[in-house]
Amino acid sequence: MWVNLEEKISKYGRNMSSSIIREILKYAADEDAISFGGGVPDPETFPRKELAEIAREIVLNEYHYTLQYSTTEGDPLLKRQIIKLLERMYGLTGLDEDNLVFTMGSQQALDLIGKIFLDDESYCVLDDPAYLGAINAFKQYLANFIVVPLQKDGMDLDFLEKKLKELADRGEIKKVKFIYVVSNFHNPAGVTTSLEKRKALVEVAEKYDLFIVEDDPYGALRYEGETIDPIFKIGGPERVVLLNTFSKVLSPGLRIGVVIGDKALIRKVVQAKQSADLCSPAITHRLAARYLERYDLLEQLKPTIELYRRKRKVMLEALEEYFSDIPGVEWVKAEGGLFIWLSLPKGFDTWEMFEYAKRKKIFYVPGRVFKVYDEPSPSMRLSFCLPPDEKIVEGVKRLREVVLAYGTEKSLI
Ligand SMILES: *Cc1c(COP(=O)(O)O)cnc(C)c1O
Repeated sequence: MWVNLEEKISKYGRNMSSSIIREILKYAADEDAISFGGGVPDPETFPRKELAEIAREIVLNEYHYTLQYSTTEGDPLLKRQIIKLLERMYGLTGLDEDNLVFTMGSQQALDLIGKIFLDDESYCVLDDPAYLGAINAFKQYLANFIVVPLQKDGMDLDFLEKKLKELADRGEIKKVKFIYVVSNFHNPAGVTTSLEKRKALVEVAEKYDLFIVEDDPYGALRYEGETIDPIFKIGGPERVVLLNTFSKVLSPGLRIGVVIGDKALIRKVVQAKQSADLCSPAITHRLAARYLERYDLLEQLKPTIELYRRKRKVMLEALEEYFSDIPGVEWVKAEGGLFIWLSLPKGFDTWEMFEYAKRKKIFYVPGRVFKVYDEPSPSMRLSFCLPPDEKIVEGVKRLREVVLAYGTEKSLI
């Protein structure tokens, strides 16, 4: 028997938890199950032949770099490619190498930002619902949260201002560090922050001297509507730090995230990263860099966008067919990304309903998972990217049966 583990764990260690999503979706492995749960891209969209060819070349020809210890910040060639990509996608200009640091996916960036800014005396602003990876990363550092309801065009800014004003009146505004925002096709809620709200958010951040962490993993996966300027472009690097990742547009297995921001902040992130993992994986960085040199990522993404656009349409049409007659049911028609957020009438608890879903072999992620403080939710996250079209339709049909069975038993409909 080893030492008493529980007794030895620090107050930070006690605040860690494993992903509930993984836990609840283990049942979805069943053969005739249909899962809208996993938030992962379709593996068929990964450019495996191209990457395989480049991988061979960079190991054989560039082994001095790719198999060696690298710098903490990451591959300068990849930095150049990202700077070009951000200029093409968003018209972002004026960035140089010192504005960027790579991380092990965006998740490490969230962790490092938590580590640098948060402790048990600090506050940060999260939305409701919020991205689970951010909740977990920030909770570890014992932070306090201002939880702001998410509306159809982004955070409820009146609510946010009210909360900030309360803290200012108590003389505690300096304890509030940043506002975390998923600006495009929010995970899980699907909503995109409107241009007006992006501007207003920057104004609020300026008024109370906070900074904004803009997390944008899905920006390139837009299926309809116009691209909106990133908050980073509106507020500038003094006010906003932008997180990007290759996970949803190239391959999550590469584990390449990038933090883009003010040079002083980037230096701080580099320091924090040094004690986390010493240096970046040169091999995946160079693989991505050579891929971006050789292929036009935005062109290569077009078939992927077509695929997801079609699947999203299939799911939206199925929802229209099977849910529009149930009063009080609403869903967000996300203009991009991987998720549809379905909300049932008041009184529904999609966590409790999950037992009914298991019996029908249809899986989703209950909204409760995305709550900063554990509480019931009538909503659920549905991902349309993995099941084939006919399974999407069949899955929505099963979901209707689940909702009707639960709703009838609980006298909710
Ligand atoms: C998928 C996702 C990420 C990306 O995580 P990686 O660690 O880069 O794989 C970050 N933020 C949000 C909101 C996401 O949905």
